[in-house]
Amino acid sequence: MTKKRPPVSAPKSSATPNRGKVLIIGAGGVGGVVTHKCAQAVEHFPDIILASRTESKCRAIAAQLKRKIRTAAIDADNVPALTKFLEKEKPFLVINVALPYQDLSIMDACLAAGIHYLDTANYEPPNIAKFEYKWQWAYQDRFKKAGLMALLGSGFDPGVTNVFCAYAQKKLFDEIHQIDILDANAGDHGLPFATNFNPEINLREVSARGRYFEHGEWVETEPLSWSRTFDFPEIGPKKAFLLYHEELESLAVHIPGVKRLRFWMTFSDNYMNHMRALQNVGMLGIAPVNHQGREIIPIQFLKTLLPDPASLGPRTKGKTNIGCLVEGLHKGKKRRVYIYNVCDHQECYREVQSQAISYTTGVPAVVGAIMMASGKWLKPGVWNMEQLDPEPFLAELGPRGLPWQVLELPTD
Ligand code: NDP
Repeated sequence: MTKKRPPVSAPKSSATPNRGKVLIIGAGGVGGVVTHKCAQAVEHFPDIILASRTESKCRAIAAQLKRKIRTAAIDADNVPALTKFLEKEKPFLVINVALPYQDLSIMDACLAAGIHYLDTANYEPPNIAKFEYKWQWAYQDRFKKAGLMALLGSGFDPGVTNVFCAYAQKKLFDEIHQIDILDANAGDHGLPFATNFNPEINLREVSARGRYFEHGEWVETEPLSWSRTFDFPEIGPKKAFLLYHEELESLAVHIPGVKRLRFWMTFSDNYMNHMRALQNVGMLGIAPVNHQGREIIPIQFLKTLLPDPASLGPRTKGKTNIGCLVEGLHKGKKRRVYIYNVCDHQECYREVQSQAISYTTGVPAVVGAIMMASGKWLKPGVWNMEQLDPEPFLAELGPRGLPWQVLELPTD
């Protein structure tokens, strides 16, 4: 059962938030990149606090920086304590890079304290492997009324992929008919099995039933039952599997006239073999099981055994290629383009001591935060990325570390 939350009233405190002050919650792989990148953007964020459940992880990240930042211990599931902290510190914005389970409690605390909000992944109840925007979209009126903004899904996918779609709609097409979001990771960490972001969230997502949008309907597929080979610029041909991914839900609502929307992700044979074996023996289960008189949740136990994604940085070599393959009409003629970014794991590590998956998530989170802090995207309400002007975001994305390109493709 999902916990029922009491409605949160408008902010009580009258102190004005400090525009240059940002609170980052979560000190994992993505939190590390966000902190490095906020620290580089000193013109926007002269004052940074990094808070997480385990403060020692915040201190370890802070020690990597040339600038001084503050750290704090926070349990983001505790709304009253977080609200108190926000009321005392009055940051302009909270960047939530903890886990999707914390989204609603952090949104509640932001509403209560009068602080803007940004995240990179949509809410998931811990005990149901299901992610949907309905829980966060339900905050629309409360954020509007409070004059606050919540920017949802400002990572790469969701995030930059949504912005690529908005750019295609604004600048490249008169009608968009089909979007295939492609996420390829040709990186190799040399380990038998590891996930490149939080293992629990990653394995819940990948082992779920597939789903895509076609002619106004959602079509379900068996988990990982559909695959196709795509030839990716700079990394070559890769087999990708159809998955359900959260940006499909918001794009189906916000890209008018789109007939088909799908999401594809590449996995190595090694990853697939391990994942299937783990699934077959029940290690991906999210329901408690009794083990020697104690209740344990199999996937959480597995997370304890698997490598910490933040530790993969030094050993991951190769590149990622993530983008949107868009088809439609332009000036009465068929058009097909691939809008994409290529990111090199080792270059990311040299810059911010992280692999490219955390990097490609953390940089867009900071670009989204800059859009809000600079006022370019600041408007009350709860927004998905494709609902905002893509051009200022994309103008900032390359210089902040993720250059992007548009490749014109044959239409046949
Ligand atoms: P990690 O597991 O590496 O880090 C999560 C961090 O959140 C940890 O520091 C953890 O603390 C902290 N945390 C967990 N629960 C709480 C809590 N109750 N209060 C405070 N802090 C808490 O995850 P990642 O860095 O890999 O991922 C971060 C987010 O980024 C996830 O939501 C993930 O879904 C999202 N993501 C988005 C992508 C995109 O492109 N949009 C791609 C990849 C990831 P502790 O160390 O104590 O456990």
